[in-house]
Formats: sequence, structure tokens, C-alpha cells
Amino acid sequence: MRSPVKTRSHAVLFRIPVRGKMWTIKLGRPPRKGAARGAKDIDGLCDYEARTIYIARRADFRATLIHEVLHATYPDLDESAIAAGEESIVAALDRLG
Ligand SMILES: [Zn+2]
Repeated sequence: MRSPVKTRSHAVLFRIPVRGKMWTIKLGRPPRKGAARGAKDIDGLCDYEARTIYIARRADFRATLIHEVLHATYPDLDESAIAAGEESIVAALDRLG
């Protein structure tokens, strides 16, 4: 039996193109669906069906945005590859100040 879905407010921040399709970036608690089902407090979620990226308010916004955009762009990559990409991009951007 499914528990009732609690409605939460998400602020739409902006929309970006990912591989030729527009995706929506939302700020707020990511829904528990897909790979995140059963997970506790997650920082972000890439919802491929809705073409929406959720970023938790408590998350490191930049790192989480990079991570989730990588998921959206390369859906076949596993978590460790995505995490490695995130780490390198964040390190490079940190050098820029
Ligand atoms: Zn991930």
C-alpha cells in the first residue's frame, strides 16, 4: 500500500538545455523516487521522466547542481563516474575563485 504523498513546495529556479531538451531546476526536498526510493536525506535527484533536477536547500548547491546535471547528461554512467566528474569540475571551478 502506498502512503499518501505529502505535497511539498519546490521553487523553480531556472531551466537549462540538456542534450537538446529543456530541464527544470527546482530547489527543495527531492522526492523519494527511482534510485532514491528508500534513501534518507538526499542532496539532489535527477528525475529523467519529468526532466527535473531537485536540489535540497541544505545541499552544497553548486556541487549538487553539477552532479545532477552530469546524471541528466550521461544517464548511462554509474554513480562513481558521476561523482568523479563532479569532484574534478568542482576542483577546477574552485581554482577560478
Ligand atoms: Zn548521483
